[in-house]
Amino acid sequence: MPQYRSMFLSLVALLASPTTSIGPPTSQVLKTDVAIIGGGAGGGSCSVASQRYGPEHCADRAGRHPRWQCGQLHAPGSDKSMDFGVFSFIDYAGASALFKRLNVSTAPPARVRAPTKYVDFTTGKPVPGYVSPPSAAAKAAMEKYAALCEKYEDMIVPGYWHFPAGDAIPADLLLRFGDFVTRHGIEDAVPQIYAATGFGIGRQADELTLTVMQGFGAQMARSMLGRQGGFIAASHRNQDVYDAMAREIGDESILYGTRAVRSVRTPANGVILTAKNQKTGKETIIHAGKLLMAIRPVGEEVMRPFDLDPRERSIFSKFEYVHEWATLVRHPSLVAGNTSVDNFPGAVAPSNYLETPRVPFLDKFELQDNTAGGLESRVFRSLVIGTKDFDYADAKGLLQTSLDRLIVNDILPSTTSEKQPLEVVALSDHGPMHLRVSAQEHRDGFMQKLYALQGHRSTWWTGAAFSSHFQTIIWEFNEVLLPEMLKGN
Ligand SMILES: Cc1cc2nc3c(=O)[nH]c(=O)nc-3n(C[C@H](O)[C@H](O)[C@H](O)COP(=O)(O)OP(=O)(O)OC[C@H]3O[C@@H](n4cnc5c(N)ncnc54)[C@H](O)[C@@H]3O)c2cc1C
Repeated sequence: MPQYRSMFLSLVALLASPTTSIGPPTSQVLKTDVAIIGGGAGGGSCSVASQRYGPEHCADRAGRHPRWQCGQLHAPGSDKSMDFGVFSFIDYAGASALFKRLNVSTAPPARVRAPTKYVDFTTGKPVPGYVSPPSAAAKAAMEKYAALCEKYEDMIVPGYWHFPAGDAIPADLLLRFGDFVTRHGIEDAVPQIYAATGFGIGRQADELTLTVMQGFGAQMARSMLGRQGGFIAASHRNQDVYDAMAREIGDESILYGTRAVRSVRTPANGVILTAKNQKTGKETIIHAGKLLMAIRPVGEEVMRPFDLDPRERSIFSKFEYVHEWATLVRHPSLVAGNTSVDNFPGAVAPSNYLETPRVPFLDKFELQDNTAGGLESRVFRSLVIGTKDFDYADAKGLLQTSLDRLIVNDILPSTTSEKQPLEVVALSDHGPMHLRVSAQEHRDGFMQKLYALQGHRSTWWTGAAFSSHFQTIIWEFNEVLLPEMLKGN
């Protein structure tokens, strides 16, 4: 079996141990078969998988502390951790085998939900009379939804190699999700879909059914029905799996806290990357046979070092997306209220389940078990769903104004005479999420154009933009991609 070299910068990793020659004191030159940009679900697992024929972890592209993709809080002086980003792993394809191989023990996922109040965060008023679907009706609707997803499963996971174009695309997939739900009479499944992942795409009723299924497809539906397993790290620290990947890849193949600043990507002669450590300023020049991009290919600033050509630019510019943050917050009024508060528009009552908040919004203030994170006081989890250009200040502002409304309207007790700012205890910036394009773009062959970029300018692509929004499905996508990418090495 051939040996491959790869390199990650926190950005990039090397498939196999790099050849290093030291240049000027402030720079080094590395040679590798494959350089990988991005050390999340796509980049990390790909590097580990490639060791079989050849990382993850990635450091913060902004060069601060490593930003763990799983979103996790560890209180100082405590041996406990609290996951507030990625919650669990669906047991898909080789996922449990990979955990075993990496020696990371697993446990069943168990999320205990505290009692909640339903409130419209845009007004701060309660939503009286909201009725959840009876559990038998919810289950029956989920069965129906699962069967519909299964019809299209092979087109969607682990990648879109079999996704059709033009009139061959099943009509269901390009329906507005609200219309799809009504057409199939599956309204009672909607609250579960929304609560699990649907909120993350924005206003799910207005998005394409395909977009909803990309976030909550057959695997999730089966998992809700107890027909497909899932797990968490037994340590309750999901980051463990990525730390184990990093150990397996080896520090010499990972450039933490480094960012590509320039690149030359050639049609057939590989890639030259210049990467800069964000802390030390040290530059590394990497000569790679191939480049594997494991970041989402959107954002002018993010993509600038990769010098997209008109074809790439035109395809990626079609993507619409939201910007998502997972946060843990604290405030005396939340602590005194001692309850979760879910955000729903007034129109959802009594059972208009397709009514959900409009972007930008936060899903809820969800009471957490503080003992899990070794914390002394209660914290609350909120996921903020913003527009493309929504920044951290916007996200924090939305959290604060939502909280203020809940206090002014007596949903939460007022505990101080002065307005006390909300404390953001932890934050995980998930960046652009749920990339999607319009129905017309799909009819015009978007998936085929996207996938035709594989190999173009010695560059290959993985991650959520090319696969799904589930870690273990992306891992499996890599299993298909890798042999293709490594052909000819
Ligand atoms: C709140 C939340 C909860 C989730 N829960 C689950 C869950 O329970 N189970 C599940 O399976 N999935 C979950 N997901 C989805 C899952 O996390 C994503 O689908 C998956 O991480 C996408 O993988 P990726 O490789 O495309 O991107 P990422 O995993 O985000 O990895 C990209 C990496 O590249 C880095 N990066 C970005 N730009 C650059 C750059 N220019 N240079 C260098 N590095 C860069 C980023 O910092 C990041 O580490 C959740 C997502 C969110 C937002």
